[in-house]
Amino acid sequence: MARVIAIANQKGGVGKTTTAVNLGASLATSEQRTLIIDTDPQANATSALGFPKDPARRTLYQTLVLGEPIERILLDAQVEGLDLIPSDKNLVGAAVELVSMEYREYRLKGAIQGVREKYSYVLIDCPPSLDLLTVNALAAADSVLVPIQCEYLALEGVSELLDTLMRLRRTINPSLAVEGILLTMYDDRTTLSKQVAADLRSFFGSQVFESVVPRNVRLAEAPSHGLPVLFYDINSKGAESYIQLAKEVIANAQKRLGQGAERPDQGTGTAASAAAAGAAAGGVGGSSGSSSGGSGPAAV
Ligand code: ATP
Ligand code: MG
Repeated sequence: MARVIAIANQKGGVGKTTTAVNLGASLATSEQRTLIIDTDPQANATSALGFPKDPARRTLYQTLVLGEPIERILLDAQVEGLDLIPSDKNLVGAAVELVSMEYREYRLKGAIQGVREKYSYVLIDCPPSLDLLTVNALAAADSVLVPIQCEYLALEGVSELLDTLMRLRRTINPSLAVEGILLTMYDDRTTLSKQVAADLRSFFGSQVFESVVPRNVRLAEAPSHGLPVLFYDINSKGAESYIQLAKEVIANAQKRLGQGAERPDQGTGTAASAAAAGAAAGGVGGSSGSSSGGSGPAAV
């Protein structure tokens, strides 16, 4: 049964789509059958995987709103072991149309139930908002992976997101865990990048992935060729970082299997309480750090 990972951050342009596409391709080439679900009406993951706009293509809209079986929407993403549920701009309407529907938060969860066993991983690329599409993704997910751009005030947005995750755990998805926090667009020549990374690590401890995604022009170029970076420039630092991340995700899954079921304290609890503690202490620097408790996404 697939592990379903929502890639979410309500902040725009932090590397959600880049992570969904390149982690997905790296998992698939590590012989882990993977499905990427594009829930963003911008359809960036869809085009980055080589499917430019096509009004005739059926997308997640047909499944979420019209109830078409997801198997009919599935596309072969041209990488062995990688499939895609595409999106298009109609999904903007879905966020509104879903509001009046029964079980509106659980439409995606229901839709993927039948295909989950075909995959090892399902990665959901979320839009930059906390709307009903993102809520559907988080309701369907076992865990959430949060990409964070290493920039000033990076932590502020994370605290807000983790608050939302806490609320979701109390209501629609009590077992939602944190897969990990991923540092993206890291530039080791700048003091700011280094400082933000150090603060996030001391704050969230082992919930931050060891793998770090550097700022790398190949990662930015690959989508315009409709290719994951692995197939655009395998030797780039960007490709290397996502291969490393895939290894870490797989190793964490094996570790979890070894430990049996996840403990309830391994979810958002640790990170969210760290965020709350940080807010009370007046920001990142005020925290004494948190490496305790949930070691779910522990470093490898
Ligand atoms: P949105 O919130 O709009 O969906 P996003 O969080 O999905 O954005 P991406 O689309 O992955 O973010 O990245 C934003 C932009 O930054 C894109 O042009 C992408 O190619 C570029 N980018 C992402 N990661 C990197 C990186 N590590 N190095 C250089 N450029 C990057
Ligand atoms: Mg995106």
